[in-house]
Amino acid sequence: MTRVQWYVVRGTLTFPCAYGACRGLWAAPHNIYLSDAAADDLFAENFFTVKHEILHDLVGRTGHPPVFQQCGLLRTDSLG
Ligand SMILES: [Zn+2]
Repeated sequence: MTRVQWYVVRGTLTFPCAYGACRGLWAAPHNIYLSDAAADDLFAENFFTVKHEILHDLVGRTGHPPVFQQCGLLRTDSLG
């Protein structure tokens, strides 16, 4: 957790992303951006957005390899 640099982008509900609209984004090497909406609601869905972005950091890439599905961290809607 200490290697991750966290950012909250104030005034945002979502970010445009490859999946449509995302509440969080991961960027190499260890940056995680949370929308205002995600940051103000960290507990939502049992920390789904935070866990999802941390998994990106653990696998070190964008996109969603099978481990996201295996961990229950793949959204079926567009707010991943
Ligand atoms: Zn993702």
